[in-house]
Amino acid sequence: MSEPLFGLMMDYPLTVTQIMRHAERVYPNGEIVSVTADNPNHRCTYSEMFARARKLANVLDALGVKRGDRVATLAWNDYRHMELYYAIQCSGFVCHTINPRLFPDQVEYIVNHAEDQYIFVDKLVFPLIEKLAPVFETVKGIVVLTDEANMPDTALDNVHCYETLLADASDVFDWPELDEREACALCYTSGTTGHPKGVLYSHRSTVIHAFGANGGESIGFRNHDSVLPVVPMFHVNAWAVPYCTLMVGSKLVFPGPKMGDGETLANLINAEKVTIALGVPTVWLGLLKHLQDSGKTVETLERTVVGGSACPIAIMDAFREQYGVETIHAWGMTEMSPLGTINLPPRGFEELSPEQQSALRAKQGRPAFGVEMKIVDDDGNELPWDGVAFGRLKVRGPWICSAYYKRNDTDAHDADGWFDTGDVATMDTMGVMQITDRAKDVIKSGGEWISSIDLENVAMSHPDVAEAAVIGVPHEKWAERPLLVIVPKPGKSPTAGDILKHFEGKIANWWMPDDVQFVDELPHTATGKISKLNLRKQFADYKLPSTAA
Ligand code: AMP
Repeated sequence: MSEPLFGLMMDYPLTVTQIMRHAERVYPNGEIVSVTADNPNHRCTYSEMFARARKLANVLDALGVKRGDRVATLAWNDYRHMELYYAIQCSGFVCHTINPRLFPDQVEYIVNHAEDQYIFVDKLVFPLIEKLAPVFETVKGIVVLTDEANMPDTALDNVHCYETLLADASDVFDWPELDEREACALCYTSGTTGHPKGVLYSHRSTVIHAFGANGGESIGFRNHDSVLPVVPMFHVNAWAVPYCTLMVGSKLVFPGPKMGDGETLANLINAEKVTIALGVPTVWLGLLKHLQDSGKTVETLERTVVGGSACPIAIMDAFREQYGVETIHAWGMTEMSPLGTINLPPRGFEELSPEQQSALRAKQGRPAFGVEMKIVDDDGNELPWDGVAFGRLKVRGPWICSAYYKRNDTDAHDADGWFDTGDVATMDTMGVMQITDRAKDVIKSGGEWISSIDLENVAMSHPDVAEAAVIGVPHEKWAERPLLVIVPKPGKSPTAGDILKHFEGKIANWWMPDDVQFVDELPHTATGKISKLNLRKQFADYKLPSTAA
């Protein structure tokens, strides 16, 4: 019997504390610019931010927070949220980020399920928490992220002012040594059915994910980058921006509560010389509209990273052709920290025809190293990577959740440890993945599947269309057929015939939507994605012309 020979390398813990120590030592003058409810132009350095994080750690200690306790944040992207990320996580507590746009009953469930001890809340979100305070079961106090002059009036006991707490605290703090497997952050996914489910990130998974996201064939932040994360810090750790940027000393530009405001984003990009911005497609629709209306440009912006839902090709084309900005399409999910795939142009991309380039750009990209993927049919048999076969996408790897927090009633993981993403996808011969749908959004017509994302892409390339969504509606003969729902651009009123003509030659005939309906706006989820669930509810009584009695 031969014995394994173990390596002789250091067992160096992969913790968020190490990212902090590195950033403070190597990049003390790293810049952080924030828009907040109480200051439209706050500026500080990494070193000032970490000094305040140490004060905050003393405050948390004095409040009696214990190792492993959950501390909730309901906050926008700004320097205070960064302080919370680092002070909570490096103290050995769990930073539980909550989306302020969730319905109150979801916030109630999440806070009680997580057993949060304290809630740190943005001044603008305080009214929501104030109303819910009586139903929270474990919360000992609420801290409002502002100064004394801006504190809201409240009849609640145990409401503190963040700046006052910090002012009285020492900025000397000995960070504890942590086990890399300890939890550092918690984020609930707002599933469309049932209660939200908690994903509990560890220090180790967070650091490995940040290495993965910071690689050359990945998002790859650079020291010279000025980074605008429009992806919220309350949703999947802002795609690791708070960690990756600090590893390399990039400048951070935080839009605070102005995330959805195209004008603020354009002004920040130009004033702070932003080189890379990250967000969901709807955010970029707002920015592009503002640029088109105002005639402004975004000269310094080199790249946008777009994910969260399929990025319409029309957005990528507008960024590239009109503003010289490359769009990098990425796919991931809360359960994956979130990075799964990223679509950087492969070798030989320049030689492809414009049509081939466009088709490739629409895909979600190749898996980052660290994410193992497979597609399977309904019986769990693996399907070929030929770009044609599509099936349920399963993943595994060191930054993918192995179970949901305090839940054993889900069947997302199989016996071999693969996690079922709930997405349906193809994989091509070059390892490039393309999502065709969420499994529950896929349209099944006569036993064959129609991709709603492909149809939405064609609709979005029509010049009069601002936003488009496709849902399946019941059909007697085919079981389901696609219905296209359109928001026209302001001042435009295309007909159904105009829109459908635009589809001719671009899709198989049997994929042609059976009808087009026009609406003023589409329902969105709390994270800015089109809510197909609510759209289906909205059209629950709708009958296709061919099936209407
Ligand atoms: P969440 O956990 O809220 O971030 O949602 C994750 C889900 O968003 C994924 O399972 C996909 O269905 C969807 N998603 C994320 N990125 C993309 C993308 N680039 N294209 C299509 N769908 C995406």
